[in-house]
Amino acid sequence: MHYFVYKNDHLYCEDVSVSYVAEQIGTPFYLYSYSTIKRHFRVFEDAFNGLDHLTCFSVKSNSNLAILRLLASEGGGADIVSGGELFRAIKAGIAPDKIVYSGVGKTPEDMELALKSGIFMFNVESNQELQTLDKIAKDIGCKAPIAIRINPDVESKTHPYVVTGASENKFGIQIEDSLSAYALAKRLKHIDVKGISCHIGSQLTEIDPFVEALQKLKELLEALKKMGLDIKFLNLGGGLGITYNDEKPPHPLEYAGALRETMGDNNVTLILEPGRVITGNAGILVTRVLYTKSTKNKRFVIVDAGMNDLIRPALYNSFHAVQPVEMTHSEMLAADLVGPVCETGDFLAKDREMPAFKPGDLVAVMSAGAYSFSMASNYNSRPRPAEVMVKGNLLSVIRSREAYEDLISGETIPEFLE
Ligand SMILES: *Cc1c(COP(=O)(O)O)cnc(C)c1O
Repeated sequence: MHYFVYKNDHLYCEDVSVSYVAEQIGTPFYLYSYSTIKRHFRVFEDAFNGLDHLTCFSVKSNSNLAILRLLASEGGGADIVSGGELFRAIKAGIAPDKIVYSGVGKTPEDMELALKSGIFMFNVESNQELQTLDKIAKDIGCKAPIAIRINPDVESKTHPYVVTGASENKFGIQIEDSLSAYALAKRLKHIDVKGISCHIGSQLTEIDPFVEALQKLKELLEALKKMGLDIKFLNLGGGLGITYNDEKPPHPLEYAGALRETMGDNNVTLILEPGRVITGNAGILVTRVLYTKSTKNKRFVIVDAGMNDLIRPALYNSFHAVQPVEMTHSEMLAADLVGPVCETGDFLAKDREMPAFKPGDLVAVMSAGAYSFSMASNYNSRPRPAEVMVKGNLLSVIRSREAYEDLISGETIPEFLE
């Protein structure tokens, strides 16, 4: 459920018409619905009512401060993967003791910053990282709270680029090596073992892989108990899928129900790291048609947003629905929706039936709230688009469109070139 709906053939975000936003701030821009984000978070969160749990929003899916602030005010924590995300999460008001830190390549500097900020837990992904963290904690004079991220080797049937929990992926520690990693963690004096974590992939549309992974975490928990380790937290990561096209992902209630059953009765808190399911369908990318042209067997609709603004189609061949902002078209035509970037991979939709767009028309690229702006770049020296949030009839630019000056900020021409 989201709040992007047509009223009298005009696309609205809550109570604001999308074309009004385009008039005010120009194109392209990302448009987020406050009520949709809040609703998605509440539905997810409330599905786990009665079960000890902590929901840590995956900051990499959408890291805008306003969105993080909204989730913080709903009581959400954060799952971060870099020092930059830690900086954002804290700036946005997320309580440090609700922040978990994942990632295979944490730098010593970022680990130190996270320790000093008092984050809840590190999800450690290798023995070397464990030793580095122990040393940093020793220097600071504290103990680093950790879970070890294990790779449960379950099959998750999603795009190969977003599978993370199979044995050929770089993430986590192989489950068969996990006991020795925990033994090492137990020996290290400045490591405080608190949990077990995993994250098996993204855009999963079935429940079974999650249940299977949680079962493996529980088995490991029993083995660790015998080693004398008191594990209080199981972190199942994120990964719950959404509908982009015709996918039928489980509802959060079903997901939570299955996990509740698998957890059973124990004194363990479940940590969840949802990203896409919270923000994916709470944002759209709005772009304007510049030109259309046809070759012998293809029609192209060229718009002012490209792969630098939204890379998912180019990177994963992802599907994003394409909709008119004004429903004035009587005819549908097969076309590619492409951007201005000088790459053949620069498309937003391929071989798609879409309204017979004309120059000047506004186009909404749907389901662009996750892994969209957060993956945007300046390729082709294109300023990144504005981000706008609507709440009811209120509209706020939550990130201004970059200017040409922003493109060169930090660059210098050395003296020997003057
Ligand atoms: C990306 C990521 C998530 C979020 O995944 P979604 O599919 O967006 O829910 C959670 N945890 C970790 C460790 C991640 O890398």
